[in-house]
Amino acid sequence: MKVTDGRVRVAASDVANFLACRRLTQLDLLRARGELRPPREFDIGFQDLVRRGEVHERAVLERFRAEGLEVADVSGAEDGTEATAAAIRGGAGVVYQGTLAGEGPGAALFGRPDFLVRADLLPAPDGEPRPDGVHYEVVDAKLARSVKARAVLQTAFYSHLLADVQGIAPRWMHLALGHGEFASFKVDDFAAYERQTRRLLEAAIGGDPAAEVYPEPVEHCAICRWRDMCRERRRTDDDLPSGRPACRWPVRTTGSSGTSSWSPNATPVAP
Ligand code: SF4
Repeated sequence: MKVTDGRVRVAASDVANFLACRRLTQLDLLRARGELRPPREFDIGFQDLVRRGEVHERAVLERFRAEGLEVADVSGAEDGTEATAAAIRGGAGVVYQGTLAGEGPGAALFGRPDFLVRADLLPAPDGEPRPDGVHYEVVDAKLARSVKARAVLQTAFYSHLLADVQGIAPRWMHLALGHGEFASFKVDDFAAYERQTRRLLEAAIGGDPAAEVYPEPVEHCAICRWRDMCRERRRTDDDLPSGRPACRWPVRTTGSSGTSSWSPNATPVAP
């Protein structure tokens, strides 16, 4: 998440992070606005994951080249968005590390899919015809050997941006998994889910900053760069001075949007 020209810009990972933890979105937003620094710059294990991911990504790239596909590498372009649009217009077989941009009602949108591959060069998993016209589908390289919901959501986000850039909604999106297999999904099957998540994220970005989401433990905490801060917050709340309940639950209020706030005088709620 970044703030550019006074406008929040969200990437595919921000949409996936929002799904993992809404407190994470609030903290990342504070960081993007320069109001808070995380205890760690990166998630735990993130840099190693990036290194291994790059190796896998290059292996997928070499596979496309070995298959004789023409690759337009736009990774170093000064204006990545324009270079990507130009490569698409030029009909390159594969666009490597393209940049996709769009606008949502609550934030600018930004995506860096690993590959955009011309749809006529990819097999149709169900044998059904694709939309008419030269167009591309997203292929994202993922180290995992199995499909993760987070990866599908990110690929659906890229497909949404790609549809606007090329003027044709892609029928399929693909993950190039760590064991060399491709997993393909119909974009339409996930478009509503992606759109709903993105809209909730945009609403959260424009929401009341004082409506703090409580840092309830979730799976993502194991690697989260904010982990120490959230852990300390929970520890402090569990260590309340006498006269207040020793459990944080009775003093937490939850709004209709799913946000919660600290309120010592609130009506107790059941744990
Ligand atoms: S540490 Fe856990 S609760 Fe805190 S922001 Fe990260 S994922 Fe959310």
